Amino acid sequence: MDASITNLPSNFIQNIINEDRKVGKNGGRVHTRFPPEPNGYLHIGHAKSICLNFGLAAANQGLCNLRFDDTNPSKEDVEYVESIQEDVKWLGFSWDERMFFASDYFSILYEYALQLIKKGQAYVCDLSAEEIKAYRGTLTEPGKNSPYRERSVEENLDLFQRMRAGEFPDGARVLRAKIDMASPNINMRDPVLYRILRATHHRTGDEWCIYPMYDYAHPLSDALEEITHSICTLEFADHRPFYDWTLDQVDYSAEAQGRPQQIEFARLNLSYTVMSKRKLRELVEKGFVDGWDDPRMPTISGFRRRGYTPASIRDFCDRIGVAKRDSMVDIALLEHCIREELNFSAPRVMAVLRPLKVIIENYPVDQVEWVEAENNPENPEMGNRLLPFSREIFIEQDDFMIDPPKKFFRLAPGREIRLKNAYIIKCEEVIVDEGTGAVAELRCSYDPESRSGGATSGRKVKGTSHWVSAAHALDAEIRLYDHLFMVENPDSEEEGVDYKSKLNPMSLEILRDCKVEPGLAQAQPGTRFQFMRQGYFYLDPKAESETGLVFNRIVALRDTWAKIQKGS
Ligand code: ATP
Ligand code: MG
Repeated sequence: MDASITNLPSNFIQNIINEDRKVGKNGGRVHTRFPPEPNGYLHIGHAKSICLNFGLAAANQGLCNLRFDDTNPSKEDVEYVESIQEDVKWLGFSWDERMFFASDYFSILYEYALQLIKKGQAYVCDLSAEEIKAYRGTLTEPGKNSPYRERSVEENLDLFQRMRAGEFPDGARVLRAKIDMASPNINMRDPVLYRILRATHHRTGDEWCIYPMYDYAHPLSDALEEITHSICTLEFADHRPFYDWTLDQVDYSAEAQGRPQQIEFARLNLSYTVMSKRKLRELVEKGFVDGWDDPRMPTISGFRRRGYTPASIRDFCDRIGVAKRDSMVDIALLEHCIREELNFSAPRVMAVLRPLKVIIENYPVDQVEWVEAENNPENPEMGNRLLPFSREIFIEQDDFMIDPPKKFFRLAPGREIRLKNAYIIKCEEVIVDEGTGAVAELRCSYDPESRSGGATSGRKVKGTSHWVSAAHALDAEIRLYDHLFMVENPDSEEEGVDYKSKLNPMSLEILRDCKVEPGLAQAQPGTRFQFMRQGYFYLDPKAESETGLVFNRIVALRDTWAKIQKGS
């Protein structure tokens, strides 16, 4: 993997790695893994974990595995397995040939469980799920031993093998670790290792009717892959003693060497966003959004569909850094990252989102002039292009007011504006639709000398507008997006308030009568542009529409993040 792809600033995990390498722990190797559960599409929080795991490996001449944590067949699906691979690749990372599944280890995990039973460190328990919970105690009270805790090794072996053979119904029995029901850490109070579950697994089919628990499978999967640094989010800190217990008790040395260390970091929370897969799945399944890749979704596929680039997401992950305490990141920072990239790389074009017809009455009928326009003033190497100008054009409805307030510097009756790269026009007459009272059309005059090179080309008028020639313009559909949620923290758990009630009803606005400059007929699907004064747009390769061209607005131009930074 190319180390230049990420630019990791120093962080506390890198410091741990530095220490480990100094003392030659695990032979100085660095081997991480990204361990998604294939029960949903990846989101921007996963992107942080991907950048961190693959990034640390690359920065330390190490390796990073992709491992599917597929221990819960009832919620998992191959669709997710495939989308996850696509998303990790799209972000720019490679696991080479090291793609694994926890289900690859089901047989050996079963052998390890037999080993634990033989050592007297695991037992079959017949308590129901509710009873186990009741026996577990609380943060302030110790738990109670299960009445099945003192079963003999022989009986436990027999029962566990019969669990595996399918002799008992789902939920009838579990295998538990025998640790300490009085431990101050609830995770150490005889946690469940195996449960009986008849569910067809997307890889192992009906081969198994018992499945290992995540907390048991995870440390052993790490060990079997010879992972050195097992990076996870903070909520697993309380599980670390059990992670270590498992590695201490199971003798995996015949299969693998070294010992992984679990390290926790703060998960990414993003404003105006929910990040739990359960909630994201609900939004998809109940039709609140149009699929996992709806451009409003915080999924990697949603950002891709919206028009974000992999580099902008990696840049964002670098900038937010790695912390040990949870916090909320402003989504404006992510928007800033894509704006900064596209400001330099995206060609400028003219597009009129809400067209208003303008007829320039003193301009010759049938005349077309080709005016020159810069493709990107931030990046002169991108050159110039020619745009057709003619007697009938479209301007933005917002650029005209019949009765303007004082500070309105655009077009109004009797006033002038400059058309970008072309002439100054003056509004002579307003045609109003008699039925609706709306402005239907403007009749203007132009100053023939006001174009670049003309006698009055330097004449100053207060406003400049974008425009397109009516006869040449292409029709397009443009989709404007706003935050999916109206409030900064839709996840905050107020009593009786469902997060879905905080969905923003205005998160999508579809404009179907847009007019864009003719050169866009040649644009490749998947290209990004700056529509002057309107933001950055992506020619959606997937959207289908009768008009043909469908653009997603990635972000508007106004950079609230840069503003916040300046103000502070
Ligand atoms: P959920 O709880 O919503 O199902 P998860 O954390 O269980 O999500 P996994 O598929 O298990 O999802 O996550 C894979 C990896 O990504 C884990 O190592 C997890 O810690 C990490 N991860 C998940 N969400 C975030 C986040 N918001 N920020 C950083 N890392 C995350
Ligand atoms: Mg998880």
